[in-house]
Amino acid sequence: EAKAGEKNICVPFVVRMRHKLDQAKALKYELEQALERKDFTIYFQPRVCARSGEVVSAEALMRWHHPERGEIEPKHFIPVAENSGLINRLGEWVYREVASHQIEFAQQGLDLSLSINVSPLQFRDPTILGKILELPEKTGCDPTKIAFEITESVLLGEKSDVRQAVEGLKSAGYKIMVDDFGTGYSNLQYLQDYPIDAIKIDRKLLRNIDATGSIVRLILTLASVLKIRSVAEGVEKTEQLEWLLQNKCNEFQGFLFSEPLPKTKFFAAAQAGHQKLLVNLPPELRAA
Ligand code: C2E
Ligand code: MG
Ligand code: MG
Ligand code: MG
Repeated sequence: EAKAGEKNICVPFVVRMRHKLDQAKALKYELEQALERKDFTIYFQPRVCARSGEVVSAEALMRWHHPERGEIEPKHFIPVAENSGLINRLGEWVYREVASHQIEFAQQGLDLSLSINVSPLQFRDPTILGKILELPEKTGCDPTKIAFEITESVLLGEKSDVRQAVEGLKSAGYKIMVDDFGTGYSNLQYLQDYPIDAIKIDRKLLRNIDATGSIVRLILTLASVLKIRSVAEGVEKTEQLEWLLQNKCNEFQGFLFSEPLPKTKFFAAAQAGHQKLLVNLPPELRAA
């Protein structure tokens, strides 16, 4: 046993590591339990169309209601799910859940598309595509109203399995969005190589628009030239919204409009729309 002041400084490190491993194991076990007990739920964050002020789509975001620790955010459990191999089971649950919500919203007269996050690891599972492709037939969902949010790192490099997956999704009618766009990579070739429907500009790029404005303007021009829809994420302030309208961004998501909401609250928010926020702005700012 190591005591303080002893020469072997490695011991405390090993002890710390050991503790971390135990914690990860415990969390993995809890995740498995949660999957069985269905302690997860999906929140929806509205996205608002620049043209109409209507809620035209929403991002599906996972929440874990832990029996003792309360609500746990995805940043605390997605990495654990990825490292422990549980991510694909979690993912499958999300796909099915979103599919049934898509049907339910449509039946209630809400014409919306819903987007699902997929982490890079989820693309390495060769069965993922089959599971998603059989959804419309199995559940009756409309694939043209469901988008997959993929990060840039997945699309970089020449990976034929990724290409097959993306093209398979696309030809089944699903939409493809690039998540967290503009901060990771400078290789933009993939925007032309893949059938991309929309890019989501990373909120880091919008935080200080005075500093990053010219980059964001370039991204918006690029999107417009390539006929890719532009979505701004993390819109928190009216000044950001004004700037984005002025520069013809197509769609907005962020706390200025709404945080992610549980289903019933989301439903009410989607019906109400956000015309007011946009109508209050000078008409020349509204995107054509
Ligand atoms: P993301 O895909 O970039 O999702 C956007 C995150 O930004 C969400 O955090 C959302 O609550 C937050 N956000 C939205 N508007 C604002 C804003 O105006 N200001 C700020 N500061 N934040 C805003 P959340 O829900 O904690 O999710 C974090 C990440 O976890 C997501 O990032 C996504 O990568 C991942 N994630 C969530 N659900 C799933 C899922 O079902 N599957 C996978 N694979 N990943 C998921
Ligand atoms: Mg996302
Ligand atoms: Mg994002
Ligand atoms: Mg993210």
